[in-house]
Amino acid sequence: MALTKENLGQLIAIQEADASLDKVKADMDKIPVFIANLRQAIEDEKGKASDLKNKLLSLEKKKKEKELELAQKEEAAKKHGGELNSVKTNEAFKALQLEIERAKAQGSDIETEILQIMEDLDKVRKDEKAAAAVTAVEVKKLEAEISAHDGRLAGLKAQFDGAKAKRDELAGPIPADAMKIYNHVRSRGKLDAVVAIEGENCSACRITLAPQVIVEATKAKALVCCESCQRIIYRPEALAAKAV
Ligand SMILES: [Zn+2]
Repeated sequence: MALTKENLGQLIAIQEADASLDKVKADMDKIPVFIANLRQAIEDEKGKASDLKNKLLSLEKKKKEKELELAQKEEAAKKHGGELNSVKTNEAFKALQLEIERAKAQGSDIETEILQIMEDLDKVRKDEKAAAAVTAVEVKKLEAEISAHDGRLAGLKAQFDGAKAKRDELAGPIPADAMKIYNHVRSRGKLDAVVAIEGENCSACRITLAPQVIVEATKAKALVCCESCQRIIYRPEALAAKAV
């Protein structure tokens, strides 16, 4: 596959451009993870507030239940009070009085419970208010961090796009089949797709290259690949010779 020395130099420049593009891309890829973590932190913050809200709702529900229970006791005492006039025997009268006292005593206990619930409600309402203030501050802080990351991502994206355009410009003069091999080697995880020959060895996989391969690479008139690792290989001396 024909390839000029100039093309080889361009391939090396593309490789450098791709290495910096990869770095920018890696930085870009981290940002959505940071943002997702921050969004989760916001949800957690809001969750804390909703825990207190639930506690408040359950106390309010309990208060209503107790108030209903109290009303029932009061109703019972009142009903028995009315019945006192119509009882015939002393025992029945005493039994009713006992019922009335019991209902009143139970009512008084329930009132004490309601007072306690109201105290708890006051406390939880205060806690909720304080927590809401803290949550608001925290959420604002986290949102500011997210927007800083968004800004950084936009900056990196612009940097990436600019560098990518330059890289593609470099690729313009290179024969398509050579680019195909370069991209193929890179896509297999060998990011250093173009490597120098050191003495008689491929500098990447260290295999000793066949003399014919070195001769071809020295001519620098065709694309030469390492027979072991498939990377594109070149002789730095051959490239330098062109410059002289
Ligand atoms: Zn090799």
